Amino acid sequence: KVRVRFAPSPTGGLHLGGVRTALFNYLFARHHQGEFILRIEDTDQTRFVPGAEEYINECLAWCGISPDESPSKPGVFGPYRQSERKPSYRKFAEQLIADGTAYYAFDTAEELDAQRQLQPNFRYSHENRLSLRNSLSLSAEETEALLNAGTPHTIRIKMPEDEVVTFDDMIRGRVSFETKLIDDKVLLKADGMPTYHLAVVVDDKAMEISHIFRGEEWLPSAPVHLLLWEYLGWKDQMPQWAHLPLILKPDGNGKLSKRDGDRLGFPVYAMNWTDSKTGDLTKGFRELGFLPEAFVNMLGVLGWNDGTDQELFSIDELIQKFSVERISKSGAKFDFEKAKWFNHEWIKNSDNEDLMPYIKQTIINEGIQEINLAKVNAVLSVVKERLTYVSDFWGQASFFFEEPSQYDVDAVKPKWNDDKTAFFERIIADFESQQDWTASSLESLFKGKVGESGMKIGELMMPYRIMLVGGKFGPDVFVITELLGKETVINRVKKALE
Ligand code: GLU
Repeated sequence: KVRVRFAPSPTGGLHLGGVRTALFNYLFARHHQGEFILRIEDTDQTRFVPGAEEYINECLAWCGISPDESPSKPGVFGPYRQSERKPSYRKFAEQLIADGTAYYAFDTAEELDAQRQLQPNFRYSHENRLSLRNSLSLSAEETEALLNAGTPHTIRIKMPEDEVVTFDDMIRGRVSFETKLIDDKVLLKADGMPTYHLAVVVDDKAMEISHIFRGEEWLPSAPVHLLLWEYLGWKDQMPQWAHLPLILKPDGNGKLSKRDGDRLGFPVYAMNWTDSKTGDLTKGFRELGFLPEAFVNMLGVLGWNDGTDQELFSIDELIQKFSVERISKSGAKFDFEKAKWFNHEWIKNSDNEDLMPYIKQTIINEGIQEINLAKVNAVLSVVKERLTYVSDFWGQASFFFEEPSQYDVDAVKPKWNDDKTAFFERIIADFESQQDWTASSLESLFKGKVGESGMKIGELMMPYRIMLVGGKFGPDVFVITELLGKETVINRVKKALE
């Protein structure tokens, strides 16, 4: 049975890489009719940030990723927050000590700091563990006495001095690590909380996880986890791992980090995130005006393709086509222009009905109280293909609802003459008597009159557009004419001639 988990630490907003990890786990689970679990890894209480878990829930919901089991939807493998599983970890750490693959370490924070002062590259490892204060260097009696006295201590894994640890990654193939390069990671902290390394292994076992998709940054931890699976006697139940390629900065120069957003001028978070301590706001794709479908599509093809040129995929299609073989091994450059293209395409191809909730919201955000929704719907049909973000709607369409607040006079004035004034005065009269107020008949009327005038079409169309729109943008000017209605059109032309 396929069971995968997304296991974020609630330390802040979710950035692109985090959501992509969630998505790939989800796609894999659904593709195999398996289960997708959300587990909150909150054992590091010092990094816990209020609101982060709620953010994660909201973000997954926005993306249409629905966990089968989670803190808010518990299944039989709960609890789904590691802090609530605290009592379950110590016995495994103790078991490792009894087996000789872990040990108690009594060094205080000050002692370790002092070591770091002496050697900047200090690592607690096989090279120096016998000279530090732990149950390997102390006698059994001394250790016993320290424990009985309630001396604060951690439990560390005893890394083999010189072994090669190997596993087959689903994406990278065979990967090997030399244990001599790895330090003796803490498994259980002095406060009794497990570290990530112990908790992740114990929980993946307890929750019967079959496959793990996680970011490449966790690859260096894999040998520690692998040894824990082995030392705990669970090696035959170990999940299969896939370490996802990094998401790189647009220039390919290094990993796209949470801080890059501000620097590079685009969001890296899924949704707005406000730091509760500093009040700092980090902008998100959702608030910028991305459709969740576009965001998911863009992430789905960041490091994966279906082997064809197809780029637009719904989440259902991604589920159907997802395959681990087609995940690339190398990092995927994040291209914001391309992300915008995905959004543009999704807006263009969406039904008005699906877009209306977002459009209504952007109108409300503009402070517009009352609006004719039937008209919004009609306008949306004609401006839809011009939107990069749903939030562009008002900028592209406000002139349909209210008079332009400014006019690009410079584009018209220099070449204005009496003939043009006369032309538009005649047009007003023609419009007044026009019965069939549709784009096509208005177009033939207008063009017919241009022909009679002897002037060039462009000389008159552009000013006409500016009279109605205020600037040189917008959909077909006769479609605009039709939608604005006779009275408004005539008023705007009159006003322009004043
Ligand atoms: N808690 C880790 C994180 O925040 C999970 C890593 C893993 O999936 O093993 O990404």
